[in-house]
Amino acid sequence: MDDELDYGPFDGEIPERLEEDARIKGSSRNLSKARLCPVCPGRFTNVRRHVFHQHLPWYTNPLTACWTCHKQFGQNKMLENHCLELHNCNIADNIFKEEYQSVWTELMNGLLLELCQRYDKKTLDHLVEYVRTEAVFKQCQSAVFHWTDIPLLNFYNKKNRFDVEVLHAVFPPSAIYSLVHWKILALLLKGTEDAENLITFEKEISLYQCSIQKAIMVTDSHFHLDKMKQQARFSGLPIYKWKDGESVYQIRHLVANYAFPRRWPTIEEMGEIRRDRRIRSTAGIHPRIVKGEEMSVLNSWITDLEMLICVNRMISVGNVG
Ligand SMILES: [Zn+2]
Ligand SMILES: [Zn+2]
Repeated sequence: MDDELDYGPFDGEIPERLEEDARIKGSSRNLSKARLCPVCPGRFTNVRRHVFHQHLPWYTNPLTACWTCHKQFGQNKMLENHCLELHNCNIADNIFKEEYQSVWTELMNGLLLELCQRYDKKTLDHLVEYVRTEAVFKQCQSAVFHWTDIPLLNFYNKKNRFDVEVLHAVFPPSAIYSLVHWKILALLLKGTEDAENLITFEKEISLYQCSIQKAIMVTDSHFHLDKMKQQARFSGLPIYKWKDGESVYQIRHLVANYAFPRRWPTIEEMGEIRRDRRIRSTAGIHPRIVKGEEMSVLNSWITDLEMLICVNRMISVGNVG
């Protein structure tokens, strides 16, 4: 089991059941078992700690970083020593606090979106898909989340309004939060042409701007989901919220209006849309584009419309709003 974790029994960083395990087998065995770093040719008894310290931006492990100096130490002991030496023995004021969770989330968003660009992926979901299918990430097969990651990941999902109820295994990645795992992040960075630049990358990006405030539920009867999908940095519909004056509004239902046959949803998209119970759809042909079209094209559109009638939660066909 300790092989799978890529970190050794240090600083109380491992769950109790593993300490139990290590005691039975003897600690010398663990120390002699240095493991390969996924990034450099080095071998380390605690690869996770080494990678945080050497190969990732300072904030990726917020718990072992100095939040005053923006410096990563990889382990509590080193962080404490740093605070004792440089911050007049003041540990509490310089380490991670609950109020930094939002900043941490936004820094992670910034890094992941930057990685999206490097890998030429349109959305974070596409980046998840990339990690799921590329051979190099197979080495994350037995990676697990560290127990200290769990509250952070829960906050990350909540803050980004990602609909995740249960955290799953790291690999294969099931959702965006899986990308936050150190090994996946390290391999993603390594695969870029300028990993060195990304180690110092620091940009806060909020995927959702609205603060938590009781929202007024509304129905948007004329919504261009097709346009939103072209612009969004993730697939699926977010908890759609916006602020107007003092009030926050949230979409309870929306009617996606498909008025242009060339942008009608594909079967695949329709499946995705149907999974979101908030969405109703209408499909039609905008009068503006009817003129000048061949009769055969118009007929094929009408056949398609007839098929769309049968689709779940398609509330009107032929109507263009
Ligand atoms: Zn290394
Ligand atoms: Zn410091």
